[in-house]
Amino acid sequence: MSRETHDGLGFETRAIHAGQAADAASGATIVPVYQTATYTQDAIGENRGYEYSRSANPTRTALEECIASLEGGRYGLAYGSGMAAIAGTMQLVSGGDHVVVADDLYGGSHRLFTTVLPRYGVRFSYVDATRPEEVAKAIEPATRMIWIESPTNPLLRLIDIAACGEIAARAGALLVVDNTFATPYLQNPLALGAHVVVHSTTKYLGGHSDVIGGAVVVSDDQLCKTLRFTRNATGGVPGPWDAWLTLRGLKTLAVRMRQHESNAAHVAAFLRPHQAVARVHYPGFPDHPGHELSRRQMRGFGGMVTLDLAGGEAAARALCRSTRLFSLAESLGGVESLIGYPWTMSHAAFSAEDRLAKGITPATVRLSVGIEDAEDLCEDLAQALACVAG
Ligand SMILES: *Cc1c(COP(=O)(O)O)cnc(C)c1O
Repeated sequence: MSRETHDGLGFETRAIHAGQAADAASGATIVPVYQTATYTQDAIGENRGYEYSRSANPTRTALEECIASLEGGRYGLAYGSGMAAIAGTMQLVSGGDHVVVADDLYGGSHRLFTTVLPRYGVRFSYVDATRPEEVAKAIEPATRMIWIESPTNPLLRLIDIAACGEIAARAGALLVVDNTFATPYLQNPLALGAHVVVHSTTKYLGGHSDVIGGAVVVSDDQLCKTLRFTRNATGGVPGPWDAWLTLRGLKTLAVRMRQHESNAAHVAAFLRPHQAVARVHYPGFPDHPGHELSRRQMRGFGGMVTLDLAGGEAAARALCRSTRLFSLAESLGGVESLIGYPWTMSHAAFSAEDRLAKGITPATVRLSVGIEDAEDLCEDLAQALACVAG
């Protein structure tokens, strides 16, 4: 199915068909794993679109077309990890350029921006992007890029993508949105004014916690050209098996997201009145500070729920020890439920001062709500919270 014919097809249809026509060589209905490094050429200078698998591989091409279609973009690029996608995107800027970054940032991006890229002369300003005026204030003549995530990790704050898009357009800068938490099922940043969307496909897009991967989607020809050139020059591509697993995950993204969402709403409602719980961060609650914005720019509230325990650090640690269905693990977005302790896990790259300033405390616990039976998940949390109280 060519890119042109996707227009007008629903999300679920594109997830299963975009980039995934029957294999031209064999008729295979499912895109084959093209486990090959190179391609036999018909004559010198004559090939069938593929020369060497760092540059392009048919399994990867299928994945790239599918992700691009789901994000409503023209071009997709797959990478070997979310961080490779982020590092690849940062190759759009040069020494001397300035980047405005939302301070509520994935820990790995923070590490790259604070320790690696400054060595190449790229400068960063960190702002509270939940207030777009702070983003506007940080713009300098050298600003080439604005970098945001929404909803943020782990407190699920909302950032106004369209407002940041306008600021970027005025400044002649690129707006990049890390859309990992929302997924294209719930949010399409390109339609809201972003120029670049990045994903860790390790999370919801792959969806089964069995593959590491990343992706970038753009619609601009020149951006695509530069990104493809630098990815080929630097080499951060996924292998065909990983591309295939991610493509298989994408097919069920819509049904999984519906279940993640419904389960997260159940879990959030169960936790909120519990006496061991001081606060639940979940954009689906009408009194969540980002609730109205999430209704405007998203099509749902996602599968993540974060809570602060009334009993502080000891209670949070006890909860993480006591769940049976929620596994204590890094990552998110898989079909299985995970529990995480941001203070020492996902946010260990930030100083204690920075963590506290963001609202992440030793009492904070993050849940990636899976697609198991919602009642089983609530019962698991009930028995674990009983251990906390005792
Ligand atoms: C996990 C994650 C990344 C990094 O992706 P990897 O696949 O682990 O390299 C980037 N951004 C967000 C929001 C993430 O959750």
